[in-house]
Amino acid sequence: MRPKRIAILGSTGSIGKNALRVIDALGPEYEIVALTAHSNIELLAEQARRYKSRFVAITNADYATRLSELVGDLDVELLAGPDSLVEIAQLEEVDIVLTAVVGAAGLPAVLAAARKGKILAIANKEPLVVAGELLTRTVKENGGIILPVDSEHSAIFQAMQAGSREEVSKIILTTSGGPFRKATAADIQNVTLEEALAHPVWDMGPKITIDSATMTNKALEVIEAHWLFDMPVEKIEVLVHPESIVHSLVEFVDGSVIAQLGTPDMCFPIQYALTYPRRVTGIGKRLRLEEIGKLTFEKPNLETFRALSLGFEVARMGGTTAAVFNAANEAAVQEFLAGRIKFVNIIESIEHCLNKHSAKTSVSLEELLEADAWARKEVEKRAKEHKSIRA
Ligand code: NAD
Ligand code: MG
Repeated sequence: MRPKRIAILGSTGSIGKNALRVIDALGPEYEIVALTAHSNIELLAEQARRYKSRFVAITNADYATRLSELVGDLDVELLAGPDSLVEIAQLEEVDIVLTAVVGAAGLPAVLAAARKGKILAIANKEPLVVAGELLTRTVKENGGIILPVDSEHSAIFQAMQAGSREEVSKIILTTSGGPFRKATAADIQNVTLEEALAHPVWDMGPKITIDSATMTNKALEVIEAHWLFDMPVEKIEVLVHPESIVHSLVEFVDGSVIAQLGTPDMCFPIQYALTYPRRVTGIGKRLRLEEIGKLTFEKPNLETFRALSLGFEVARMGGTTAAVFNAANEAAVQEFLAGRIKFVNIIESIEHCLNKHSAKTSVSLEELLEADAWARKEVEKRAKEHKSIRA
């Protein structure tokens, strides 16, 4: 049998590196055909060499010359610039596109892959949040499939196999609660970047780590679940589970609840997306419940984590609101990571944009991108104002 040919968009990131570890262990049935990165050319070149990747793309074209020097002796086709992601995503030589880039920047590529009917292993949740209706429709129309890599959505996808979609009464997304799980709204007023980056369970890229601290990540995941599983928002709940062993649950109409459990390691959902519908021996550490002892659950604190209630509201409203929610968050997280705004200004930026935005209900890709661009500008403008207030 021919090996499954894989493109990893964002191979130098946290998910990308884990995916390569999984593929190493899966053996010759899986072949890396294309790898991409934004700026880490040293690691990208090393990966291209090791996996004999036929295509390599660098989305930030400023690094193209340096990269071409690093891979000069390899038999590899080099692409550069943001559009190279789209070219890679639709290559005829690729069966599975694993999207592991960060942010809505991945949207054009994932749409291109969907139009080609590729198998889409999606870690990059932001495009699903921004353009969930368009993306899921395009996948359906072109005979493709989305296999979720986000751990909660992989858990739901697995649990859903215990019944039909009509038999599902609700989806319960779990969250570790992040570093500020026990904090009050007053406590988070002056948290530092270092405190926000210290996630208690997961080791991830900086953007999603901040999203987990504000719980915006869970808000994005509510919207992601709404589109992925075609579930009304009323049937989606969030439950805090600090041990991060139960990755999510599905309740069926008869009252039975099916959950997926495992040690908190992204290798599990990455592997399942790559081998689906099969299961094979993997590299993830086995769960020993006797070592864990106790699993606890609590309701999320909606006063501290306003992003969560907003996420539900945005999922209900639809149209351009999710694009604004996501873009405002992306821009604000960038400002926070750069030390230009405070932690609490992230949620304030999102609220400001949602309040000021005149939402459109029926939307085209152009309108979504327009809303996205507007929100980013708005946040940058506010960040400058914050700075001048502080100065
Ligand atoms: P990361 O920051 O570690 O890596 C991001 C990757 O994308 C890198 O390879 C980088 O070169 C590339 N990239 C950055 N900006 C880009 C741009 N503008 N255009 C093209 N490529 C760009 O991020 P991560 O933690 O691996 O997360 C990747 C995605 O997966 C995110 O959408 C995140 O929400 C989702 N996710 C991550 C985890 C996790 O454990 N890290 C879990 C669930 C979901
Ligand atoms: Mg997740």
